[in-house]
Amino acid sequence: MNNKYKILIIEDEENINNLLKNLLETNGYQVVCAKSCAGGKMLFASHRPDLVILDLGLPDYDGTTFLKDVRKDSLTPVIVLSARTDEKDKVNALDMGANDYVTKPFGSAEFVARVRSALRISRRSIDEGKLPGGKFKSGELEIDYDARRVFVGKSEVTLTQTEYNIIAFLSEHSGKVMTYTSIIRDIWGYNDLNSTKKLQVNMANIRKKLGDKPGKSNYIVNELGVGYRMCDKDE
Ligand code: CA
Repeated sequence: MNNKYKILIIEDEENINNLLKNLLETNGYQVVCAKSCAGGKMLFASHRPDLVILDLGLPDYDGTTFLKDVRKDSLTPVIVLSARTDEKDKVNALDMGANDYVTKPFGSAEFVARVRSALRISRRSIDEGKLPGGKFKSGELEIDYDARRVFVGKSEVTLTQTEYNIIAFLSEHSGKVMTYTSIIRDIWGYNDLNSTKKLQVNMANIRKKLGDKPGKSNYIVNELGVGYRMCDKDE
């Protein structure tokens, strides 16, 4: 009876708070709400939620304070809510360990899809531990981590070593937006002036090789100004 996922909302705007609560309860989730960073921390400790929806602009502290605190000892997925203008804050929150972000104002259907996706990722990492050592599948795309080979349908995609490393990295975090900085750090280990350009060139080649085209359902989505997301197509 009580096996519903529990979601903690930390948001000070009353109407958004209520809207999200109703939306999530309608979709079968159990919801607890806080209106400040401090309140959020208390409820997080006492309720141990499966997912946190976190507004960045809170009255007592910045939402990232909560995030930093939680990430010290917990991998509970966190979706950040932010205003359209806060591009830097979004990137910062993702680099600090947020799993995803939703920009206000947002559509209900998209929001619920993001919640489902974040919960699925955390379930998968609990079920299977770290993914490599097996295969990744998303629609027609298949990555064989042991052989370091990539297929779309029956045909193999020929990738350079760097291209493969990028695609493997994104797939290990599929469903989550990976910021430019986090990808660059993982692939090259350093961040110089040319890194972003280098990443963009590699990404363009990868997406061409995968057959991704603007406007169709793609394997890798470019979150403009933020990073890239490998899509989970087996919803
Ligand atoms: Ca706010």
